Order: sequence, then C-alpha cells, then structure tokens
Amino acid sequence: MKRKVKKKRLRFRFSLAQVLEVALALFLMGYGLYHWVALPIIDKYFSTVIAIEPSNVYGVEVITDFIKEGSHNRPGIKRNIKYIVIHETGNPKAGSTAENHSTYLKKNSKVTNSWHYTVDDTEIYHHLPDDEVGWHASDGLKKNGGNLNGIGIEICVNSDGDFDTAVENAAKLTAYLLHAYHLDMNDIKQHGDFTSKNCPQTLRDTGKWEDFIELVKIYY
Ligand SMILES: [Zn+2]
Repeated sequence: MKRKVKKKRLRFRFSLAQVLEVALALFLMGYGLYHWVALPIIDKYFSTVIAIEPSNVYGVEVITDFIKEGSHNRPGIKRNIKYIVIHETGNPKAGSTAENHSTYLKKNSKVTNSWHYTVDDTEIYHHLPDDEVGWHASDGLKKNGGNLNGIGIEICVNSDGDFDTAVENAAKLTAYLLHAYHLDMNDIKQHGDFTSKNCPQTLRDTGKWEDFIELVKIYY
C-alpha cells in the first residue's frame, strides 16, 4: 500500500528582494556604515529600536535620571518612535529647572504624568528610555498618537532662566534625536497636534514655532 506523502511547502514571509536588502544591510555593517545605511534597513523589517542614552548633545550635558521601573508614571510599554513631541512646562516659578522636574517625576511616581526629557538653559534631564511610552500627549494609547509614538520633550519656562537658550538647547536635542531614530523635520510635533491643549504655549502664542523649526534645521 502506497502511503501518500504530502509535500510540505516552505513559505517565506519575505520576498527574495527583501532578503537581499537585509543581507546587504548586514554586509554594510562590516564597513562601518551601520548607523546611516544598515540600521534604517534593519529597522524597516524588524522594528528594532535601539534606545540611546546621550550624555551630551552639541555641547549641552544630558543627565540620565530615569523614573524607577514599575512606577505608575513609567508604564514600561515598548514601542516604535515616530515623533518628537514638543511641550513647555507651563511652570514659570523661579527654580523650576530640568533638575527640579526630574525630582518631581521621581517623587510623584503615582501621578499619570511623565515625559522623556526636560530641557532648561543649562542642561537636559532624561527621565524615561526613549523606546518606552510616557504620559505627556493627553491621548492615551491612541494608534498614531503622541504617547504611543512620541518622545516627549518639555522646555522649561522658569522666570529665572533664559527661555531663548532653553529653546535652542531643545532644538539641539530634537535634531540629535531625529538623527538617532531616522526621523525627519515632518516628525516634529507640538503637544497641541494631538489634543486641544495650547502647548508649547510661548512658542505658539509668540509665533516662534517656525523659529524653533529653523533652529532644529541648523543642527539637523
Ligand atoms: Zn504639553
């Protein structure tokens, strides 16, 4: 008696062209072209986000001081990065610096409020890994929303600080992150793009948003 042998068909998820593209990416990695050529191709197929922890962006010190894992305001949800979302703290009190906001986020870990970076006129604090969700865009976990896809940057507006310098430092950080995550100028968003909130308020109300974008272009 003849047994029927079913032929198993191999099914590939990727086309030959795609496999060749990934092979090319791996090959180029060996030639030091990892960041500019290979990584975008790898990202395209494997959604790999390699979160960076910069210590200096164009001469501005960045202090990594993450909110404790397991805190209410650090949900630990991994995601891809599509946007840089710009905010202002709205906190004009003297002494409301980046360091001050870092202390706030760590002390008040039960609040549903968090973002990735705070920038003042002298330094930058990094509060959350870039590949984790923060609660800053007022849009829950909406698909294509600011929380789920954005790195939240708060610019300090403390009355004893130099706002223009803080804005320039934020532009440096934005340009740096655009490069790091293969984003472009169209990926810079305002908090107000995701909700009705007037944020970043000063940049919007004084018509300085375009100036900010031009500053980012200088460093991009
Ligand atoms: Zn905001």
